[in-house]
This record gives sequence, C-alpha cells and structure tokens, in this order.
Amino acid sequence: MVFPSFESSHQQYFVPNPHQSRAITALNDINDQEILAWLAFARKGGFQVRPGGWNLTEELVEAFVSLVGFEDDLVLLWIHEARSGTQTDMKPQKAPVYWCTSCGTDKPKSYKNRDDWRREEKQHEATYVCMLRGTSEFAENGSKCVFCNAPNPEDCQHHIQACLSPNGDRYSCKRRCDMVKHLAKIHGVNHKPQAEAVASQWKRTLHKQAWSCGFCVTTFLDFQERLKHLQMHFEQGMTLDDWNSTTVIQGLLQQPGIDEIWKAKLAISFPVIESSDLIWMDSALKDLQHKLEVGPSEGGEGAEDLAEVAYATCFLNSAFLGN
Ligand SMILES: [Zn+2]
Ligand SMILES: [Zn+2]
Ligand SMILES: [Zn+2]
Ligand SMILES: [Zn+2]
Repeated sequence: MVFPSFESSHQQYFVPNPHQSRAITALNDINDQEILAWLAFARKGGFQVRPGGWNLTEELVEAFVSLVGFEDDLVLLWIHEARSGTQTDMKPQKAPVYWCTSCGTDKPKSYKNRDDWRREEKQHEATYVCMLRGTSEFAENGSKCVFCNAPNPEDCQHHIQACLSPNGDRYSCKRRCDMVKHLAKIHGVNHKPQAEAVASQWKRTLHKQAWSCGFCVTTFLDFQERLKHLQMHFEQGMTLDDWNSTTVIQGLLQQPGIDEIWKAKLAISFPVIESSDLIWMDSALKDLQHKLEVGPSEGGEGAEDLAEVAYATCFLNSAFLGN
C-alpha cells in the first residue's frame, strides 16, 4: 500500500484524477462525518496498524488511503460534486493527438509523440508468419529444425498442427513479441533469445501499392505521403471518432487500375448511385481494405475481382434510402 505524502499532493489538483474519482465514487454512500473520521484515522496510519479498520471493505480502505493527502474540505467538495453530478471546471488536459488507424477503435492506441505513432503505423506494414519457409532449413550436414536447430527435424515435437487454422493457414501476427509468445505457447520454444531470433526470420513486409484516409476520400501511392496526410488531420484535432472505414474503402477504390473498372461496374448495376452512396459491411471491411491496399496483381486477384469483392460486400447507406 502506498501512502501519498501530504506535501506532494497537497491541493495540487482541484479536479480529481481518475484514481481519485474512483475513490470518491466508492465513498458515495457514507456520510460526511464518517468520512472525515476515517480520513483522520488513515492520516494517523491507522490502516497500517489495523488494515481492515472495523470491517471496512477493501475498496473503502483503499479509497480512504488514496485520499489522505487531501484536505477535508477538498475531499468533501469532491464528494458533494459527485453526489450532485456536477463538476468544477475541468483543467484542460493536453489530449494525445495521434491515433493508430490500423488498430482503430477495436484497440485504440494513442500517441503524444509523432515518431512513436509513425512507428506504430509502420508496424502494420509488416507481418510475422510462423514457419514462413517451412519447418526445416539447410545446414552444413543436412537439415536442421527451424524452431530449435536440432539436426533431425523429423524427430522434433513442435505441435505444428496446433498452429494451423481450419483452412490450413499458419499463425501470423503484427509484432515480433506476439510471435515470441506464440513460439513458447504452441511450439515449446521457451528460451526467449532463441524465440526472438527465430521470429526475426519470419518477418514479411507486405507489398501494398495503395493507401487511403478515413477522414477524407484520398488515395496515396506512397506510405510516407499517407502518414504526412494523417498527421495533418490529427494536428487539426481529428480523433478516431471522426474515422470512417467506408471512407477508407472509397479512397482505395479510386486508385489507378481499379477506379475505372469500379465506376463502370457501378454504372451498370446501379445507374443512379455513386460510390459515396455506399457503405461496407463491418465483417468485410478489414479483408477488403487489405485486398485493395495490395491492389490487383498478376496471378492474384485482378482489378475485376477486386471490384467484384467490393460490390458483393457493399450496401446503400441509410442517407440514400432517406432515413
Ligand atoms: Zn496499431
Ligand atoms: Zn526442433
Ligand atoms: Zn506456429
Ligand atoms: Zn484525409
């Protein structure tokens, strides 16, 4: 238990921080006199001598202890504000500005530092694939196991089946530390330096040819250009709340090679409808976005195929339908 010193926190905050707010909420049902008595008890170190007070819950003890550094009047002010649902003027807090657009709202990640944010965005341009080049590799005297370097890979037990998804795909992830965890959990590579060395060899940079923005419909053929553009939006105060995944798709559909085919497809199927009248199903978004970023390729999906996927997963937005 940490007892904050009176000096360090004395009257510094006029607005409770989240930790203090929780404490205040916990004390909501206790009357003022009792609160002051317990605070005085806590200040004298009473909870160190008698940890549970007299049958207080752990939550209450924690709440009192976290408030000992504040004067009675301030604590009561906070409690009264919390009870009446009002708040004193919030001190403006400098909000984090940059958000990872790949992690998005599923796992929001914010950065105050531009370079940290850029690094995070960049991480999404690579992927780690388990057993990228198979389970064994050539060595001087034959072959060796990619997991543990043993000379006879066929004798190894690395539970390879456990790594495969139902459609036969191997595990892949965005960060090396996740692959290191996977190696330990599934393949029994528990020695961390060994797992890190193995994981490093399985990094695959994704070859994308287009990127877009979720704040405005724009296409980029260069990743750095995209970052510069997003940076501008964030510095203007945009947040993930303003990010729209359908806008991302619309920007990507404008890339050279797909743009005309997509527009032609729309013209045939929905003559009165434009791309901006459409939205995409959440379940299809990530996959479609990825396909469009990679773009048409020979031997892979061509522009026609990509337009078809976009078409199959879109529907009319409610604004167009008039509600
Ligand atoms: Zn991210
Ligand atoms: Zn092995
Ligand atoms: Zn694996
Ligand atoms: Zn934009």
